[in-house]
Amino acid sequence: MDQLSIQPQLTPMMAQYFEIKAVNPGYLLFYRMGDFYELFFEDAEIASAALGIVLTRRGKHLGQDIGMCGVPIHAANDYLNKLIKLGHRVAICEQVEDPKEAKKRGAKSVVKRDVVRLITAGTLTEDDHLDARASNFLAALSMVRHGEADFALAWADVSTGETFTADLSAEQLQDELARIDPAELLMAEATRLALVERHFFAPSWLPVAHAAPAESFDSEAATATLREAFPGGVFDPSALSRAARSALGAVVAYVRESQKGVGVALRQPVSDTTLRHMAIDAATRSSLELHQTQRGQQRGSLRQVIDLTVTAPGSRLLSARLASPLADARAINERLDAVGLLANDTLLTGRLRADLKAVPDLARALTRLALDRGGPRDLAAVGKAVSAASALAGHFARLEHAPTVLLRLSRTLVAAPLPLASELAAALDDDMPLFARDGGFVRKSYDQTLDDERALASQTRAVVAALQARLIDETDVRSLKIRHNGVLGYFVEVPASHGTKLLEEPHRQSFIHRQTMANAMRFTTTELAELEGRIARAHEAALEIELRVFASLRQQVLEQTDTLRELADTLAELDVTTAFAHLAATRSYTRPDIDDSLAFAIHGGRHPVVEDMVINEGHSFVANDADLSGDDAIGGGRLWLVTGPNMGGKSTFLRQNALIAILAQTGSFVPASSAHIGVIDRVFSRVGASDDIAHGRSTFMVEMVETAAILNRATRRSLVVLDEIGRGTATFDGLSIAWAAVEALHETTGCRALFATHFHELTSLAKTLTRVSNVTMKVREWEGEVVFLHEVGPGAADRSYGIQVARLAGLPEPVLARARQVLTVLEQRSAGTASSSQKASVLDDLPLFAHQPASRPVEKDPVHIALDATRPDEMTPKQAIEALYQLKKIR
Ligand code: ADP
Repeated sequence: MDQLSIQPQLTPMMAQYFEIKAVNPGYLLFYRMGDFYELFFEDAEIASAALGIVLTRRGKHLGQDIGMCGVPIHAANDYLNKLIKLGHRVAICEQVEDPKEAKKRGAKSVVKRDVVRLITAGTLTEDDHLDARASNFLAALSMVRHGEADFALAWADVSTGETFTADLSAEQLQDELARIDPAELLMAEATRLALVERHFFAPSWLPVAHAAPAESFDSEAATATLREAFPGGVFDPSALSRAARSALGAVVAYVRESQKGVGVALRQPVSDTTLRHMAIDAATRSSLELHQTQRGQQRGSLRQVIDLTVTAPGSRLLSARLASPLADARAINERLDAVGLLANDTLLTGRLRADLKAVPDLARALTRLALDRGGPRDLAAVGKAVSAASALAGHFARLEHAPTVLLRLSRTLVAAPLPLASELAAALDDDMPLFARDGGFVRKSYDQTLDDERALASQTRAVVAALQARLIDETDVRSLKIRHNGVLGYFVEVPASHGTKLLEEPHRQSFIHRQTMANAMRFTTTELAELEGRIARAHEAALEIELRVFASLRQQVLEQTDTLRELADTLAELDVTTAFAHLAATRSYTRPDIDDSLAFAIHGGRHPVVEDMVINEGHSFVANDADLSGDDAIGGGRLWLVTGPNMGGKSTFLRQNALIAILAQTGSFVPASSAHIGVIDRVFSRVGASDDIAHGRSTFMVEMVETAAILNRATRRSLVVLDEIGRGTATFDGLSIAWAAVEALHETTGCRALFATHFHELTSLAKTLTRVSNVTMKVREWEGEVVFLHEVGPGAADRSYGIQVARLAGLPEPVLARARQVLTVLEQRSAGTASSSQKASVLDDLPLFAHQPASRPVEKDPVHIALDATRPDEMTPKQAIEALYQLKKIR
């Protein structure tokens, strides 16, 4: 440590600080001093700025002031939360010996301290730090070179123990990470550099990415680490690819390091490739606003509108399923069968939902217990979850031919370990402290010796009361009281006026003076001190028994970890299934017909989010059909070209079809009167891109990069939804690219596609390409205004209604009038001409001026003239009314 070597006269405390700081680089060190965590030097500067707390000075180091700031222990959680959210990592350094021990070693020795835990965004377990309804993944990205680079991801939610691995190509990384959305992403510096060099490092990873040492990605060392972390032989690390082993090894090592030897409570890793998923890339997720809107809000996202789950674990599972819809017709139909049965049985669904509401977050409670960070409430949560499971199982008893999924769920519910629940219910009180060390959570008459100790403690309290009465008698001080506080323990207190009396004979012998306050004096007596010892001992003995009870209950719970985790999964899945059933029943969603064809026939489709919004505003949503069905015999699916004015409902229509496909493959019913969908392997959705200025790419470049991604990756089984591609460049370029893209999708890819465009020229493609059809958003013109019908009909729009829309947006009337004029001239004269230079020459012929300033003098009408003539100040109320009547008569 360089500071240490340059500075020989460090105080012992500072020396200790530097030593600890050196082994935890990259972490803000919370250094425990009494009732505070203190931060020093640069840490203090960072924390004081981030938390808005005062930066002070404490002595000097190398001639410089030492900056310091501190947070009180009792409020530390809030501050930690803030720092973690800002992307910092914190090392908690505690005193690990009794300060008395340090004193024994000599006056100058410091209390031993050590880091007991590293707190990082990806390794949180406490409810205080976590969003109950969101998963919290720690991910590690590994790269293995076999001549060519090979990547793998491993990710785990430390709070629930779920663990996954996936082998990937560099191209897949961005999409996969967008799906997982980790809170923290580890990679070795060499991996980062390789990705940056090949343009595969997404800027969106920056806030969560952390460098991890290359050693932690060693795939050889990982085998041993993994065998130890996942004992029992079910999981075989050597069955993983080298890259996956390396990534998983890094996750386990990081979790272990962060928990500082408490053990790693992760579940058997699941290889993510076992189920076939519908691929949704990062841009599509964002464009369709699946989990959050493009502005980053939950409100207005698909997830927020369809999430009717009643438990936090249910909500997390729903979110995960929505992030990875299935791509296997059988698996999808199994989910739909279960939702279907419950959607038809609203009585049963209602009962299940009511019982599910009482189900606590079993997975997170189990993890805290496993990490020895759990309290009595976590034990109670286990008991409650088990009892709720058996109540839920009761509802299934009458179902004879239940669908596979429900049968599977009900089998686990029936097997819930009821004896454990009864034991927990018998042992635990109704009201409980957060921590076991506070005691007072074991129910009366659960443990005889505990009851005895408690009785002793309370009897002793009665003895204290008797002693107080006796002392009053002896001293004749009526206001004498025996009280208790944390500093003095038990003491006798009398008002100051009586204090001197006790300092004199005959009381001087028995009353030992402890403290003089402004208006009271405090004493102790030998008898009271003795009693106090007895009370404290009884208390201690009681607490010791309670802690033993806690440890034994915790052990019993941990012995059943596997069963309980399976139960936690089951409860979450039941919540999701019931929530989808409730969604279907309350919002008129229907069961989609899913098979392996190339069908995409939606009747009466609606946009789940826009519908919700429109209904809340008191309007009704106009349902629309879409039919992109095709088959191999005709070369694939169909492509609809959608034209229509701005605000006509094009984007809504396009996206609703993509959302219906995603919902269907997630296993939910869909907002449509009927839907027949042949399983879709990938969904692509792009909306006319906005400038990505932050990353130095123009609108056009972004759009082309994304269009390229679609043309290169879409297959015949894909669904492609493109909104106004080609807008960001000069008209001819844009049109030509859009034209070529439609041709490529039709001729080469043969996918099912919706293509919205302002280039009306494109609509002539329908004449040559057999599977292309033109549809348009209908509008009606009424007294010069345009009314949007939001209805999709055959044909192409003949005009854009841009000026009418501009008027709705509040453009000043003179500007609108001028625009109309320009448009008329353009329409009349430019028929057949389209180049911009020709348009410019047409415009040269326009009469000059016509733009009239808004402030031109207005000729006044008679009402204005009459109004100007009135003098309100000089009128009586009666005259004013009279004047009003006169005004009304003017026509
Ligand atoms: P465009 O993409 O053609 O500019 P949008 O799809 O953005 O139009 O729709 C504009 C607005 O019209 C939406 O915000 C919504 O309020 C309303 N809207 C769109 N489609 C419908 C519909 N089918 N039924 C009712 N309102 C709709």
